Amino acid sequence: MSRIETTSIIGDRKITGEKGVAPAIHYSAVFAASDSDEFAEMSSVPQHARNYTRYGNPVHERVKSIMAALEGTETALVMSSGMGAMVTTLLALLSAGDHVIAQTHHYMSTANLFDEMLSRLGVEVSLVDQTQPSAFMSAIRQNTKLILLESPANPLLELTDIEGVAKIARAHGILTVADNTFASPINQQPHALGIDIIVHSATKYLGGHHDLTGGVVCTSRSLAEQIWRTHVTLGSVLSPMDAWLLLRGLRTLPIRMERINANALTLARFLSQHPSIERVIYPGLETHPQFDLAHRQMKGFGGVFAFGLREGPDTAKRVVSALRIPFNAGSLGGVDSLVIHVATMWLGTRPATAPIPANLIRYSVGIEHVDDLKEDLIQALGSA
Ligand SMILES: *Cc1c(COP(=O)(O)O)cnc(C)c1O
Repeated sequence: MSRIETTSIIGDRKITGEKGVAPAIHYSAVFAASDSDEFAEMSSVPQHARNYTRYGNPVHERVKSIMAALEGTETALVMSSGMGAMVTTLLALLSAGDHVIAQTHHYMSTANLFDEMLSRLGVEVSLVDQTQPSAFMSAIRQNTKLILLESPANPLLELTDIEGVAKIARAHGILTVADNTFASPINQQPHALGIDIIVHSATKYLGGHHDLTGGVVCTSRSLAEQIWRTHVTLGSVLSPMDAWLLLRGLRTLPIRMERINANALTLARFLSQHPSIERVIYPGLETHPQFDLAHRQMKGFGGVFAFGLREGPDTAKRVVSALRIPFNAGSLGGVDSLVIHVATMWLGTRPATAPIPANLIRYSVGIEHVDDLKEDLIQALGSA
C-alpha cells in the first residue's frame, strides 16, 4: 500500500491501458463495446460504467480510483459539483416520511436544500448544535434515516466530534454522511472515524486552482450503487475536461495541503498577536474552543481562518479592499489566497438569533510565500 503522496500520483494507473504518461482526456459522450456481453458490463457496474458519459467515462474512473484510495473507501463517484454530489446522495437515500439530523451550521446551499427541497418532499430535518454529540443523540427518532455532518463548518469553523457521532449513529442503524470539503482527505479521513459516505466539493482543495466545478462521493460499493442509480437519473455529470483538470489537481493535493496548512497556521498565529485584531478563529490555534478535538481527528487544520477587527465592520471592509495579494472572492481551497467580509457574503442567510459577527474577515490561504502574505496583512491593517 503506497502513502498518500504516492497514491495521488499513481493511484489510477491500473485503470486503463493507455500508454501516455499523462492521462488522456476522453472527450466522447458515447463508447462502443466489442460485443453485447461487454456492453452489459459497461452499462451496469457503477465502478466501471463507461458506455455513455452520463453513466461513466475513463477519466471519471481514474478520479474515482484516486479518491477512494485517499478517503479509504471501497469506491467513489464523481458529479458535476459539490451540490450535485450532496443532492444526489440525499435523494438516493431518503424517502417521504424519513427524518434527518443535520447541523445548525452548514454550507449555505446545503442549508437551503433542507428548507427549500427536503421539506417539500416530506423529509423532516432537525438541526442540532454540532459541538454537542449528545444533541445528535437527543434528536434521534423512530424514523431517523440519516445524520449529516460538516466539520470544520462554514464560516465559523466549529467542529463536530466525527467519531462520537458516528458511534451514536451506528448503534441506532442510522446512515452517516460527512461533507469533508473544508478538511480534505489529507487532513481528515471521516471513513476511518466511522462515517459511511463522504461528500466533497472538488471545486475547492481537490481541484485546487479555482478553475473547475466538481463533486465527489466516497463510500462502500453497495451504497455507491444505490447513489449511482439516482445519479444516472439526475444527470449531474462531470465533464471529461473538468474530470481531467481534477485528476491534474489531485496529483499535487498532498503537497499543496502541506503548504496551505503551514501558511494558515503561521498567519493565524501572527494575527492573534496583532494589536488591531480582536480574535482569530482557526482549529489549529490553542484558543479554538475545540482545539483538543481538532488534534484528535485532524492531521492538519486547513487553509481557512477567520479574524475579527477590534474597530468593527467598516474597518474590516477597508482591510479586505486594502489587501493586495488575496482576491476578494467567495470560495476557498485553491493556490490563490481569497478573502471575504463574512457578514456581506452571508447577509440575510442566518437566523437573527445566530448572526455572523460584522467585524469578521474569512481568509482562505493559498500557496504563495507566507512572508509576502504576512507583509500584505501588515500593510492592509496599517492603512485601514
Ligand atoms: C463549495 C462547497 C460546497 C458546494 O460545492 P460546489 O462545488 O460549489 O457545488 C459544499 N460544501 C462545502 C463545505 C463547500 O465549501
